[in-house]
Amino acid sequence: MGNRKTRYSNNYIIIGLKVLLILFLMQFVFSAITGAIEYQKAGGEIVLLFKEDISKAELKDLIKSLDIDLDIGYHNGDYALLSIKRRSDFSRAIRQLQKKPEVHIAQGNSSIETLGFSNDPYGDTQWAIANPGYYPTLSSLDSNFKSAVMDIDMDVVEAWEQLEGKTTREVIVAIIDTGVDYKHPDLAENIWTNPKEIADDGIDNDNNGYIDDVHGWDFYNGDASVCHYQYSEKYQLYLADPKDNDNHGTHVAGIIGAIANNNEGIAGIASKIDIKLMPLKINGGADGTGRISDAIEAIKYATMMGADICNLSWGTSKNIPALEQVMKEADMLFIAAAGNAGTNNNQNPIYPANFRLDNLISVTFINSYGKLNKLSNYGNLTIDLAAPGEDVVSTTVGTYATMSGSSMAAPQVAGAAALLYSMDENLYPANIKEILINNLKLIPDLEGLIINPGIPNIQLAVQAATEQLKKDMDAPELSFETIYNKERMTIPIKVEDLGGSNIRVLRWIYGERSLEDFYRGTSGTRIEEDYIDVVKAGIYTFYASDYAGNETVKSYKVEEDVTAPKVSLSYTVANNFKTRTITARIKEMQSGIKRVKYMKGSKKAKDFLPEGAGTELQLKDGKVSFKVKIDGVYTVFAIDYRGNTTVKEIEVKTVEASDLKLSRTSKTMKVGDRYTLLAYLKPVDTTDMITFKSTNEEVATITKQGKIKAIKEGYTDIIVKTSSGLQRVCRINVK
Ligand code: CA
Ligand code: CA
Ligand code: CA
Repeated sequence: MGNRKTRYSNNYIIIGLKVLLILFLMQFVFSAITGAIEYQKAGGEIVLLFKEDISKAELKDLIKSLDIDLDIGYHNGDYALLSIKRRSDFSRAIRQLQKKPEVHIAQGNSSIETLGFSNDPYGDTQWAIANPGYYPTLSSLDSNFKSAVMDIDMDVVEAWEQLEGKTTREVIVAIIDTGVDYKHPDLAENIWTNPKEIADDGIDNDNNGYIDDVHGWDFYNGDASVCHYQYSEKYQLYLADPKDNDNHGTHVAGIIGAIANNNEGIAGIASKIDIKLMPLKINGGADGTGRISDAIEAIKYATMMGADICNLSWGTSKNIPALEQVMKEADMLFIAAAGNAGTNNNQNPIYPANFRLDNLISVTFINSYGKLNKLSNYGNLTIDLAAPGEDVVSTTVGTYATMSGSSMAAPQVAGAAALLYSMDENLYPANIKEILINNLKLIPDLEGLIINPGIPNIQLAVQAATEQLKKDMDAPELSFETIYNKERMTIPIKVEDLGGSNIRVLRWIYGERSLEDFYRGTSGTRIEEDYIDVVKAGIYTFYASDYAGNETVKSYKVEEDVTAPKVSLSYTVANNFKTRTITARIKEMQSGIKRVKYMKGSKKAKDFLPEGAGTELQLKDGKVSFKVKIDGVYTVFAIDYRGNTTVKEIEVKTVEASDLKLSRTSKTMKVGDRYTLLAYLKPVDTTDMITFKSTNEEVATITKQGKIKAIKEGYTDIIVKTSSGLQRVCRINVK
């Protein structure tokens, strides 16, 4: 990834991708490199077998005649082992020894089996896998092995040995980068194939929105062409098209998954498992720039198609929340390159590396001495770990090349993660990240520069994983309810993660839907809060998924509020007959009362619907009273928030009393006695009100309801009156 600044053009964000690149065509280097490799493979040692036993003195004389700086490692009879000090002397020493008449065999020590980890001819350049303290490069050749610090590697060979027989499943790594040479002989077998897509028929066979996406997708060009070739007359080979150069992504792909032991090129870190590389091209053109919108689409594609890991060897200084969101919602482990500007990511953020997500590892690069390169970014709050990233030999379109940078370090970690993923099903990114970070090869020089000062020790990680890998087999649980809320219905959603990997995404679609409709959580409406508000009743389908890929889909029927408000009416007539008070009590249990109105006369609901029709009433605690002046029929109208209406009529009629009788016309009471005086009116439907009054309240009092209380000795008259003027008296004697 690039030390170039992020540029903006046509509202698109350009992603820098420039690597520290030494492109080298292998036609030049193949033969020249052989001698150097021989020296390394032999460990600098020459095995000598003489035709007959040879004495110590004779051996010394022989060596003296060679004029080559060497030590005798071992001598016994007709056998000797010589150790050559300068690798430049190695081939010459063998040639000269072979010419000596007493020598039967002179050859490099066959330590190939212990030093070389595969038969891949450039495997020895891969110091990230096994670093014996020196390594050949594809450039500067035979006489020029690069020195290194022994064991600055990821203990990959040991990890492979340990993993033997323990890998149980296919691991898919999405390469979101430039394109990938999917025909490369060192990659082809390990390229992901979409099982349900038929090539070149112009049909989106698997209905995922991409036509003929057999080996991933080219988001840059908007088609299925994940690699762009140009035939080279000079080399008689298909190499990268300089106008749309796919070398970078091909290089990344090889680091992760180049085929091991095929007598070809190199071995990927994750090559000894069932690895599948998914090319998703977002960067293109001559310098490999791209758009963030394509990156987001590519991440969604990888999620949808079931990738486990996603390598992001690119970045931008612009923070894009939408990118962070889509990463957070994916059940993949992301490995992001930290940048090649030699700057501090705490202060000069690079995204996506700087997103602090449980499913993201940010990676800077070190050289074979275990040091940061001057262009390695650092950041003790922002960069998770380091990985080998200098002089990395890997595949490019049609050939091989050496590249350096954090772009090359990220895929080393992606390869490490893939090895762990191969050990079981239903694993999840946060756990894999934890195991990788807890099992680093510590490099003290990195202390204070990055969060975890070290590079993956894959052997240790694999060892730890046998006990520490966590599985989440349980799909999330979903439950719902409906709360009517005025015009809307609120559906609170309860989602529970049962297996420990956490919920990654929650989405919904209107209608009865299936799991497929959610495309592994990349489709449907995202649920931001723990509820949704809807205006339409009906079936809603919800989707939840955790980070281990377990999915739940559940439909829920939102019942419409079809119950009309319940209205009950009553009225009273004032004593002076001037006003009548109508009281309406309204019950509405679902969406709630939106409006209450009344009109004089017998009315229908539709009479109230025009704006301004009827007199608006303010309901309080389900009750409202209003005054009218004259008798007659009145209609009360109520409508709830879902549009259910009720009309209720009441006939207000003033009926004067024609007769008034009391339960007693006189009564004797003792001080402290109580008595309720009953008044009977005729007719029964009279609207008259009754009032009670005691003429001497010192003797006895009476309440509005006719309850008499005797206070002291004496007498009083209780006067009972109706609204219409009827009057009776009851004499109370208190003794
Ligand atoms: Ca398709
Ligand atoms: Ca097709
Ligand atoms: Ca190979």
